[in-house]
Amino acid sequence: MQNNNARRRKPPPSFIKNRENNRESLKTCGMLLIQTMMMRITREGQGSKKLCLYMDEMLHSIFFLGYIHQDRLIPDDFFEISTAQQDMCNMFPGPFRKYNSHLPTRTPFSILLDMMEMLYSTERIKEELLHLLKEMKFPNPLHKPGSKPEQYYTLESTVICECSDSDSQKHYGASLCCRKGAAKKILIDLSCLKTWHKYVSHAVMSFSSGAGDGITFPESLRCQAYVRNWKTNVYEERNPCFNCGNLFNLQDADLDKVEYPFGNCAETECLSKLLINNQYMHENAVINNHTEENVEELRSSTKAHLIEQLVKVGIKVNDNNLLFYSPFQMQTGD
Ligand SMILES: [Zn+2]
Repeated sequence: MQNNNARRRKPPPSFIKNRENNRESLKTCGMLLIQTMMMRITREGQGSKKLCLYMDEMLHSIFFLGYIHQDRLIPDDFFEISTAQQDMCNMFPGPFRKYNSHLPTRTPFSILLDMMEMLYSTERIKEELLHLLKEMKFPNPLHKPGSKPEQYYTLESTVICECSDSDSQKHYGASLCCRKGAAKKILIDLSCLKTWHKYVSHAVMSFSSGAGDGITFPESLRCQAYVRNWKTNVYEERNPCFNCGNLFNLQDADLDKVEYPFGNCAETECLSKLLINNQYMHENAVINNHTEENVEELRSSTKAHLIEQLVKVGIKVNDNNLLFYSPFQMQTGD
């Protein structure tokens, strides 16, 4: 082992610096998100059990992402003072015990979106989210094309999506905020197996495996993604990327943009929520080859791929039995 290390070329100082920055960035984002949402919960009245359950789920998701990060973070790392850590542990014991044995079903930012939907009317979501993001001051991820190492780890989903059936109730989704290492692939696989509507999972899994069964939605679908402009703190409209154009047969897709894996974009979570909550959409959306055998085959290869990834990042997987974290376990004392 030592010989191998001695022979390996020493990484340049800039590489070490970037790696350190990324670790610190994840820590800072985690701390900011935890502190800010705890303040909101206190302000909105602790009586809200549902907000506390979201907080519990969010803590678990943050700790899981920290643990699978290349420079492994443990829950203690997210707290500067041990009393704050102890208080949180007393209030939310589940995430502190299960961050590396149980799997999250979504990212901290997706949970944040649900909290915002609970606190504010759908018309105010974008505005309130901008307000919150400004207050949190997440580190700038520094999007520089061609300079990938300079992108910091952030827990912010820079793109969100709003969709509805005609202009009835709006639903919101976020892009995957974990941009480093295996986290993105793991979250996409987890979402396919556990979180997303069966049509969305089918579409993502089939395109990822090279087949390509896209969903066609009724004409009443409204779907618009927004990207946050860092300088002005405003959400600006953004066209779907090439992959989303294929997955969901969306018009006006940007044919040059293929930089994200299938399932990464905000459209995925948003359209999944729409299909789950809107009966008309669910009954009238069309997807080819949606047979039990086909879906089962896709699910088993996704599961095998996921287990492989989880083992690599040090998550204990017990005989193919994936344990998902549920904040409701808190109440049953499990
Ligand atoms: Zn996309």
